[in-house]
Amino acid sequence: MKIIGILGGMSAASTQIYYNKLCAMTTARLGGLHSPDLIIRSLDFSDIEELQSQGEWIQAGERLNKEAKNLEACGAEVLVLATNTMHKLSDSMMKGVGIPMVHIADATAEAIVKSGLKSPGLMATKFTMEHFFYTDRLAASGLNPILPGVANRQIIHDIIYNELCLNIKTDSSERIFKEIARNLVEEGADSLILGCTEVCILLDQDNVDVPVFDTTSIHCESALNIALLDKSDE
Ligand code: GLU
Repeated sequence: MKIIGILGGMSAASTQIYYNKLCAMTTARLGGLHSPDLIIRSLDFSDIEELQSQGEWIQAGERLNKEAKNLEACGAEVLVLATNTMHKLSDSMMKGVGIPMVHIADATAEAIVKSGLKSPGLMATKFTMEHFFYTDRLAASGLNPILPGVANRQIIHDIIYNELCLNIKTDSSERIFKEIARNLVEEGADSLILGCTEVCILLDQDNVDVPVFDTTSIHCESALNIALLDKSDE
């Protein structure tokens, strides 16, 4: 099994979900006492959020690059950047890094395309919904992502940063997220991308009417597929 390097803490709430999911998936696949071979680098999200909100993307990219290189030097063989938003900086992060990364948008697009669906609604941070690095990637796979309107994008963004990143789950935010998901379906979405690694705290296949693609689960599955790939299959 290859060593997975997780660059996380963005937020810490979602990195805990990654750890739990990767452990459960590894046990389900390999049985016995198997657990994933991991290095987790969990950053202080307060520092990262400050860079995001001030638009200091170059500095943020340099930080991710330094951390990715450190994970490689520590023995990681495949990298997982445990956030959708910071994939905006995946090219900067991977400069001079010799191990592969599992791109969360590509893994998600692949899962949707495999299901034969075309028009996923996208619920994510404003950065992910509005900065094109993510929607362009989905479009390149032949998908037609459907975004919430401006006001709902702000509401989703605020709930993510003020509640979900702090692991706070409220009934009122769950109602709001379900309502926004319903609106997206009315506007033609045939599926829904939980495009932020904390959205699964509020939404899942049990409270959404169309097929749900949870980026956190998909990302963990893809990373594990690579980690468990036999050397002879590569
Ligand atoms: N984890 C989130 C995401 O998947 C949001 C926090 C962040 O900005 O990294 O986009």
